Amino acid sequence: MKRVYSGIRATGRLHLGNYMGAVKGMLALQETHDCVFSVVDLHAITTPYDPSSLQQNIREVILDFLAAGLDPQKCKLEIQSRVPQHTELAYLLSTIYPVSRLEDLPTYKDKKAQYPKYINMGLLYYPVLMAADVLLYKGELVPVGIDQEPHLEVMREIARKFNSVYGETFPEPQRFKTEGEYVPSLVGSGKMSKTVEGSYINLTDDLETIKSRLAKAPTDSGAIGGNIPQEGGVANLFTLLRLFGGKEMFTKFVQDYHEKKIRYVEMKEVLAEAIYKELQPIQERRKEFEQNPKLVDEILNTSISQCRQVAEETMKEVKEKMGLVS
Ligand code: ADP
Repeated sequence: MKRVYSGIRATGRLHLGNYMGAVKGMLALQETHDCVFSVVDLHAITTPYDPSSLQQNIREVILDFLAAGLDPQKCKLEIQSRVPQHTELAYLLSTIYPVSRLEDLPTYKDKKAQYPKYINMGLLYYPVLMAADVLLYKGELVPVGIDQEPHLEVMREIARKFNSVYGETFPEPQRFKTEGEYVPSLVGSGKMSKTVEGSYINLTDDLETIKSRLAKAPTDSGAIGGNIPQEGGVANLFTLLRLFGGKEMFTKFVQDYHEKKIRYVEMKEVLAEAIYKELQPIQERRKEFEQNPKLVDEILNTSISQCRQVAEETMKEVKEKMGLVS
């Protein structure tokens, strides 16, 4: 059975981007593959964070995973820092990868620009640790959004280099694409992201909150007509409608746009209802897990000890090949 790995940073509750770009892929793959899904807390500490809320943030992601339908009978769930082999493998892999390549990555440059006073080694090291995350489990498929493609490329380069220097060991992981591989921001440009205020809708948002978040999304006067734009606030609303509203609804509003009779208030209302319809069962399941913290702890403890066993097998093989053990 092919192995799958994906992780989400412990920076708070999941939003629609995380859900459509990553979790939807995880849900599909847990049915047919050997999967590990992780809360990657060690990646979360590379950008400014509050240590006193980190445990809560880890819990939020686990609860969102379980609420969304990740099933511990079908997949393993881990917390990255509780499987220490991640950092051990990352160090070993870092010895075969050039610093210059990491400095050139767009994700590193973006983060440097976003946090000019927080440029640390961990940030530069991020893609190496991410490669170790996946390769530790010999993951072949990685359900993540399109923004992660540069990191997947690093992963493949590291796997190839390791295999050529030390002998065939790792597969070259591929990204598992979903229909929502890029969910746009509500602020009019860029992607939906936890770190951009006003850009996101959380999986835990109620209907009123979804409506008020959408109400703030920029549009135009509605009198423009022609083809729907490729980018900007209106384009983003149409993307969300395509992902959540179904074909019929999408076609109706495209038609309204062509005919210059679109009413964005109505479109946002319909969109809010459609999003909430998808989120409602998730929110109900979340409540059950929130009320049963012991069960969540048990799920994690069992899963993490299984993960450590698999991780240890890979580490043994890697250390033997690198000459670190006889
Ligand atoms: P964020 O950017 O909100 O901090 P993460 O970096 O923790 O989110 O990303 C977790 C997962 O969610 C990754 O697989 C990433 O590709 C996916 N993801 C994040 N934002 C989006 C988005 N707007 N559209 C599609 N996928 C996304």
